[in-house]
Order: sequence, then C-alpha cells, then structure tokens
Amino acid sequence: MMIEVAVYDTKPYDREYLEKAKNCKNIIWRFFDFHLTEASAISAKGAQAVCLFVNDHADHACLKKLAEMGVKLIALRCAGYNNIDLAAAKEFHLNVTRVPAYSPHAVAEHTIGLLLALDRKIYRAYDRVRELNFSLKGLIGFDIYRKVAGIIGAGKIGRIVAQILRGFEAEVLVCDPVQDLEWADKFGIKFVDLPTLLTKSDIISLHVPLIPETFHLLNDQTFEKMKQKVFIINTSRGKVIDTAAMIKALKSGHLGGVALDTYEEEEGIFFEDLSDRILLDDDLSRLLTFPNVLITAHQGFFTHEALIEIARITTTNIQALTKNNLFIPGTILN
Ligand code: NAD
Repeated sequence: MMIEVAVYDTKPYDREYLEKAKNCKNIIWRFFDFHLTEASAISAKGAQAVCLFVNDHADHACLKKLAEMGVKLIALRCAGYNNIDLAAAKEFHLNVTRVPAYSPHAVAEHTIGLLLALDRKIYRAYDRVRELNFSLKGLIGFDIYRKVAGIIGAGKIGRIVAQILRGFEAEVLVCDPVQDLEWADKFGIKFVDLPTLLTKSDIISLHVPLIPETFHLLNDQTFEKMKQKVFIINTSRGKVIDTAAMIKALKSGHLGGVALDTYEEEEGIFFEDLSDRILLDDDLSRLLTFPNVLITAHQGFFTHEALIEIARITTTNIQALTKNNLFIPGTILN
C-alpha cells in the first residue's frame, strides 16, 4: 500500500533525512515549507497522513478539516505534542504519533554547551578575538565544580543533564513528581521540592514538557525565590518561562545569565532566516540586547544521530497505516 504524507514546515534537512529513511519505500512525500494551520490544511487533500513539527498548529478546526479530507494519522516528528489538540484528535478519530525519544543526549549535551558558553562567555570571547581584541576584561566565569545545579524535570533529557553535571562534581538537585530514587542514589543526586530547588540552586535547567501545570512555571513569584545571580537554562519549551517576568529579573540584575534554546513566541521566528527583515518581537529584541543572554534557535535536537532516529521512528509510525494496527485515536503513542 502506498501512503501519501503531507510534510509541513519542511527544511532541507527534514527532506534529506526522511527520504533517506530505510522504511519509506511506499511513502509518497509531499513536502511543504509552510506551517500546518486551519487555513493551510487544504493542502493535505489526498494524503493519508500529515507530518508535523513543533510550530505546526493542529487545533480543533484544523483537525476537523484534516479528518473531513480523509487524513488518518498525525505523525509528529518531535517529542513535544503541546501543539496538538488531543481531545479533538479523539473526536475526529485521528491517530497521533510522535518521536518520544530520538536522542536525549543531543538535547542534554546542547544544554551543557549553553551552560559552559554562557558561564565562560565563550560567545563573547569568540567575537572579541576575531576583532583582534585579546583582552579578558568582563569575561570572568565561575567553576561549575561544587555549585548547586537544579534540574526541573528528571525525565530522559533532565537525567542525562543531571548525570553530566555530576561529572563536574556539582551538587545536583532534581524536582519531578515522578521520583526514581534508585537512579538518584546511583549518581549521588537528590530529589527535592520546587521551592527548595529554587532557593538553593546556582544553576537552574528546565526539562519539563509544556502542560498546563508547567505553563509559566518560572514567573515573578518563582524568580523571586531564586538566589541572586542564578543562571537559567531552558532547552524545554519557551512557554515554561514567563518572558516578561524574566526580562524584569534580568533588568534588575537578579539573574546572572540566561541561555535559551526555546522562546515563548518562537513560532515564525526560530528556524527562519530573518536577517534581512525587521524583528517585530519586542521581547526577543530586548533579550538580544543583554550581554548575559545567549539564545540558540531550538537546535538542541539537531545532531546527525537525532535526525536519523527522528526519520526512522516517524516513518515506522507512518507504516502503522499499512498494518491496520492503529492506536486509540487521540492518545499519543509512546
Ligand atoms: P520526558 O517526558 O522524558 O521528561 C519530562 C519529565 O518532566 C518527566 O519526568 C515528568 O514527570 C516531569 N514533569 C512533568 N511535570 C513536571 C513539573 N511540574 N515539575 C517537575 N517535573 C515535571 O521528556 P524529555 O524527553 O526529557 O523532554 C523534556 C523537554 O524537552 C520537553 O519539553 C520537550 O519538548 C523538550 N525538548 C526540546 C528539544 C530541543 O530541541 N530543544 C528536543 C526534544 C525535547
């Protein structure tokens, strides 16, 4: 059976890795560079599946249109699924698959890369040296050794970050409603509640999914509880941080540094080359002016190994359409 798949928000690398996946011989790809929204859903006509990424919008109206056109499967090529209305998927008998783990190491290693670059001001040093300015003025960092690192969300990525930080001999605190004490004991890591983590940590790294309980988890009140000069790293989802509150805490000097791989309003900005346009997002513009803010555009997942795995799992998920072994509509395949 041939399967037609409409792929949205396609970048050249998506195309390259999806086409190269071993198990896609019977898949006819229809690559679109625009996002899936209710307005663009008509482009899926004739397809049995749509393949989406983090900033495609599958809300109620969009899913209704897809179901009416005969689409059976929403195949996410990412882990997070906050952009899919699962209740609507259930209502319209649409199956949803995702790639729950492709390379948690890719994201964890990027998190540590951001932390080191931010702490030791490597991004500033790089620019400076290229200008033949070899001065060290303003580049003082701190040892991670013996600092307290707080990891919010000890799932696949958070645990690897925690373990790497133990390699630096940092004290690692983790906060998660699910507590694997055996894992924590093995690596000398301590589970604590959120207020303890916030008040004790020198570095706070976010690894939670975006769900109603984690929306704006870092806000005026939680920033208030943190140590002066704390470093915040977010490679999870932008909306976990209240950006306005973070800017306030940066302006007051409370935060020592912020590294972001995700941003609350990243949609339409991250993954795009806007270098010849005017940036209309005032919060992002403001963030880019702070010398102690480092931003990457959602590239935590972006390694060769992760892209191979994403393509392999996505195409395997799509093959479920040929086997009649679809899942319970509206539930996420884990
Ligand atoms: P995971 O599901 O393995 O782990 C998430 C953990 O968060 C779970 O252990 C869960 O119990 C915990 N959690 C849920 N609510 C919590 C709360 N209120 N407080 C504390 N902990 C809570 O997920 P993962 O694969 O480790 O991914 C983590 C995040 O990374 C997700 O937001 C995902 O979207 C994001 N992500 C980002 C990139 C990137 O490129 N930057 C790539 C992949 C995933």
